[in-house]
Amino acid sequence: MTTSMTFSLIHNLFKTSSNGEETSVQAPISKLLINLLESATDGVLITGLDGRVVAINRAFEELHGWKREHVAGKLLPWIPTHLIDEVNQLSNSALSGQSVDGHPSISLRQDGSYIPISLTIFPIANSENTHTGLVYVETRLITIEEQPRDKACSVESVRMKNMLMETENTYKNLVENAQIGVYLYQEGRVIYVNPHLAQIFGYTVEEFVFQNNSNLIAKEDWIKLQNEATSALKSHDSKHTFELRGTRKDQRIIYIEGTVTYIIYNGKPAVFVTCQEVTYKKEMEQLMLESAQRYRKLVELLPEPIIVNSNGTIIYGNISAVQLVGAKCESEIIGTSIFDFLHPDDHENSRKTIQRIMESDEPPGLQRRKLVKKSGDIVEVEINSIRLHDFHGKSVVLSVLRDLTEQIIEEEALIQSEKLAAVGKLAAGVAHEIRNPLTALRGFCQLLRKKYSEDYYYFGIMIDELDRINMIVNDFMTLSKPQISKFEKANINKILQSVISILETQALLNNVSIVATYNEVPPICCEEGQLKQVFVNVINNAIHAMPSGGEIKVSTTAKHDRHIQVTIQDEGIGIPEDIIRKVGEPFFTTKENGTGLGLMISRRIIENHNGLFVISSKENLGTTVDISLPIPLINY
Ligand code: ADP
Ligand code: MG
Repeated sequence: MTTSMTFSLIHNLFKTSSNGEETSVQAPISKLLINLLESATDGVLITGLDGRVVAINRAFEELHGWKREHVAGKLLPWIPTHLIDEVNQLSNSALSGQSVDGHPSISLRQDGSYIPISLTIFPIANSENTHTGLVYVETRLITIEEQPRDKACSVESVRMKNMLMETENTYKNLVENAQIGVYLYQEGRVIYVNPHLAQIFGYTVEEFVFQNNSNLIAKEDWIKLQNEATSALKSHDSKHTFELRGTRKDQRIIYIEGTVTYIIYNGKPAVFVTCQEVTYKKEMEQLMLESAQRYRKLVELLPEPIIVNSNGTIIYGNISAVQLVGAKCESEIIGTSIFDFLHPDDHENSRKTIQRIMESDEPPGLQRRKLVKKSGDIVEVEINSIRLHDFHGKSVVLSVLRDLTEQIIEEEALIQSEKLAAVGKLAAGVAHEIRNPLTALRGFCQLLRKKYSEDYYYFGIMIDELDRINMIVNDFMTLSKPQISKFEKANINKILQSVISILETQALLNNVSIVATYNEVPPICCEEGQLKQVFVNVINNAIHAMPSGGEIKVSTTAKHDRHIQVTIQDEGIGIPEDIIRKVGEPFFTTKENGTGLGLMISRRIIENHNGLFVISSKENLGTTVDISLPIPLINY
């Protein structure tokens, strides 16, 4: 029998009896009334106006574990202390004619445990309509109860009742054992909490109902949940979803997801909440998010330029990619076409490559392409691309690029040095072969000069020319590495002075003046003869570059105690940009009688001294040669 059934039956009975029979609580209660009370499944307790217990029914005994004799004459013993005031107030309301029907409350059992109940209170009056006592009907909120023992009813009604009970029990069972949290809330109070919900928070149901919201739910989430509940109640909406952070009994933070539903319970609007713990899911999501962020950061800062395109439109570019194309920020490349950055010569091939990646999913291997920067400059790049199946839900092409500029310079330098090595080898071989016959020729010339003194002058020229050939041969010899030569302490200023004094006459003939600035420099370790050869070569080139005269500035400076810089600057014809790279290659010359070996040999000598030889030039303005030589760490 449900609360409302019990309520109406008892109420009617008392009403009936108040008309005719004696209904004072002290008076014997009619047999029928006793029968009904005994057969009711809800606990019924009758008190006098002084609040002392007059009678309880069997259901009450069973619900509380009390026997009548335990409670007879006692003052409200089943009410938890903290609820006494409230129940007193409700009792007064009932006495003053306000109905108290299905009020959610908690009842105390003999063993000290609590049970959630709904409480109905109504007064008993005598024939003069004077109140003589109160009837308390308590219904346990969704519990699994035993079968009713209603002997007074017909077989049919017993069957009906059993069916109803069964259905009700099935639902109760379901809710009690459900692996989902269930919570019923009405008129600002918790009416029901199922064991699973309490368990989510690490409490028993009895402990749970006494917890403050602030203990259970994060403040701002509680406000949100209340708002959801209020709007569900206001608009009679069926479902509102929510997500909140809770605190378990062990203080662990948990995440809960659920729905708030508007229902009618006991004839009044109520909020029905179902929820589930989603801490694991949340933590996984958080982990995924963090790892995605970490990867993004990693890609962002990777030194390799990375570009992602979807159907040719750039949708991502990391910092290196932005720098490579010469853009200021990512937004300058996002949304543009990759073909804006590819040289037209490469468009067709790139289109085919993308198509192949998207169709076959196979990485196409390294592709060499010409990339057009924002400034219009072209850089050679190497591209490796793969297909990503799910990049923000799209199938895209991810490309990793490599700037080849430096590699190309290195490759050219390598070719150059290989060329030099080959020439060096050849020169050394040839030089050896020539030197011996030269020595013989020179010796015989000297002999013949003595014998034929009338031709002394011509033999002199022959010897001079032979000496020149010898000198060139020696030049070739310097190319052959390794040069085991004598490195000695020397002052670079002195070496330069001696070279300039030799070349000055020749310079004057060409209307060229040499202005030298010698700063104080420490001694270096070098082979003097070779350095002289370098300066002769460079100054000679400078003189030849100024056919109508000019000035050659020579200076020496010590830089940071690390190296000495010798600068030789002319104001001659200069070197056109398109051939400056060739200058210094073996046999490259623009002169009719040039050998094209001077600069190559000079560079080689300086490099053998662990120095640097740099030539820079502007057409029609002049050429500067910077030679830097290391200052030894140990001073002589
Ligand atoms: P050569 O002097 O026999 O031509 P080098 O190796 O000394 O051989 O020089 C190679 C070329 O470099 C020269 O032919 C000339 O074109 C260019 N060059 C070298 N030095 C200068 C200079 N100071 N001004 C202009 N061009 C120069
Ligand atoms: Mg030269």
